[in-house]
Amino acid sequence: MSAAKFEQIGQALRAHQTFAVLSHVRPDGDALGSQLALGLSLRQLGKDVRIWNEEGMLEKYRFLPNADLLTKPPTEPQDVDVVVALDTAIQNRLGTTVASIKSAKLWINIDHHPSNPGYGDLVYINPNAPATGEILFELIKDQKLPIDRAIAENLFVAISTDTGSFQYPNTTARTFEIAAELVRAGIDVGRVSQLIYENYPRRRVELLRDLLGTMRFDANDRIASFKLSLASAKKLGVLPEDNEGLIDHLRAIRGVIVAIFFEELSDGKVRVSMRSKSKKVNVCAICEKFGGGGHVLAAGARVRGTLEEVEKKILEEACDVVGRTS
Ligand code: 5GP
Ligand code: MN
Repeated sequence: MSAAKFEQIGQALRAHQTFAVLSHVRPDGDALGSQLALGLSLRQLGKDVRIWNEEGMLEKYRFLPNADLLTKPPTEPQDVDVVVALDTAIQNRLGTTVASIKSAKLWINIDHHPSNPGYGDLVYINPNAPATGEILFELIKDQKLPIDRAIAENLFVAISTDTGSFQYPNTTARTFEIAAELVRAGIDVGRVSQLIYENYPRRRVELLRDLLGTMRFDANDRIASFKLSLASAKKLGVLPEDNEGLIDHLRAIRGVIVAIFFEELSDGKVRVSMRSKSKKVNVCAICEKFGGGGHVLAAGARVRGTLEEVEKKILEEACDVVGRTS
């Protein structure tokens, strides 16, 4: 591992021919937009690029330019020169894509998660960047890599989704400068934002109704949580991607510091998603205690146990932490 400069990464991208661009399981807009943006830029350099995600392209992000280039990994492992892992704090969150890499000369790791241990040969981690898409924009500009409207739109979606549409505290003046450059590159902000935020399937709102029915408050109303059982998910016919962002309804409540979402998975684990509104309450530290990770204000974990067991354990820990914060 080395803390690489853009210069070294740019050289490595130019020097090799075959690439696999990967990102994490349960991908979000930053993961998928970043993968497509870098993949498209490399293709314009004449490279041979595979863009793989364990889940393939999600229905809700099919509007991303050149979305069809992002596929599930093949069952037959392949040799590539370079693997680029994007937005993935820990290598095992690359999921099944890793098994599709037979050999690679070089691993590049580009990310913004502070908990990223720096796996790979060339590592660029900027925990102050609000999105991996923002780091990629800087890399593309610094190294004069190709950028066009399609690439700009993928980067815009990456940055918009990871900043909660330019609202979270990780949004800086630089983020708006980059957004302005992406708009100048030709993207239509109104159209793209509508595709991201005003285009949900009805079942997502039905899911929200179900979740609000399970809502509870702890620690003097400073913790709000809700949960989704496998039975409810089945009854509503929801896809895993449908719940992205629903936790924001809990975070948006006045007085709530920590929002938690518990989702029962089919493998005997519960996916825990956490948000904090105060830098004094580090939800990444809470999640790390249960084998997860993420950022200070947004983190997650997959915890073995029943929905009720995990809910109890996590709420106890969260109440403890919030209780110690005045
Ligand atoms: P989300 O709640 O949106 O799934 O994830 C919020 C943040 O926590 C993301 O930055 C994500 O990378 C991180 N995160 C979510 N689940 C896990 C997990 O199981 N393990 C680790 N290490 N990080 C996670
Ligand atoms: Mn991200």
